Amino acid sequence: MEIFSTVKNYLTLNQFPFNNSNLVIGFSTRNGGNSSSHFSTNNLGLHVNDSYEKVIHNRNEFAKNINFPLSKWVCVDQVHGNNIVKINKSHKGMGSTHYSENVGKYDAMYTCESDILLVTFYADCVPIYFYVPNRNCIALAHAGWKGTALGVGLNLLTKLMKDENISPEDIHVVIGPSIGSCCYEVNKEVIDSINELIVRPTDNFYMTIDKNKYKLDLKLANKLLLMQLGVKEENIYVTNYCTSCSSDLFFSYRRDKNKTGRMMSFIGFKEE
Ligand SMILES: [Zn+2]
Repeated sequence: MEIFSTVKNYLTLNQFPFNNSNLVIGFSTRNGGNSSSHFSTNNLGLHVNDSYEKVIHNRNEFAKNINFPLSKWVCVDQVHGNNIVKINKSHKGMGSTHYSENVGKYDAMYTCESDILLVTFYADCVPIYFYVPNRNCIALAHAGWKGTALGVGLNLLTKLMKDENISPEDIHVVIGPSIGSCCYEVNKEVIDSINELIVRPTDNFYMTIDKNKYKLDLKLANKLLLMQLGVKEENIYVTNYCTSCSSDLFFSYRRDKNKTGRMMSFIGFKEE
């Protein structure tokens, strides 16, 4: 069964433990915005040469839809790396209206404060959401194959465990819409770089098609990596959505040959 359901122009989760009325969590679709041509219509990425005014319009409309104003969004400069940043109230609004004002070059962030919306942008990479119900801590990681191979999810998890004293058994993880193994052909270098991180190298997360040709299930690779550090399998929720297959809902970097917009993943706690 699909974990996400559609509300207005975004996907959200309603099942336990994500049905906390203060928790805002989801993933935007390409619908309902003002952008044209290959950004049609709800491009939320400021860094892809879409009209600045249109993206800001789209972001403001989206902020109304999810009832979380831009002044509370926190954006990072996503560089397919593995650096993590802890977010607090002083970061509120950074990068939400001007790209250059983002928090910095990070691919994952977390906070244990409310009234902050963590947001990251996508067109095939894997959004990984973390939620620790008993601590009201949340996190978001951006994991393409490079970030996955660099261990961005593992780094984030390690930081939550060491710096915040959070136990991995208490963490609930959502793996959101990204390119699926159905549409994601890669070479051996990619498979090997991910397998290097996996304690018991496995072929579970890919299928061999031909010499140097593989179909990669990046969602599953990330799930396996998080389980290695002690996140319980039953606490990892994985979507079935493939960004490349569902052209009615999503932009896809691969399918659209880089001429495309960006969706946004978001997680935050409203002020009680
Ligand atoms: Zn697909």
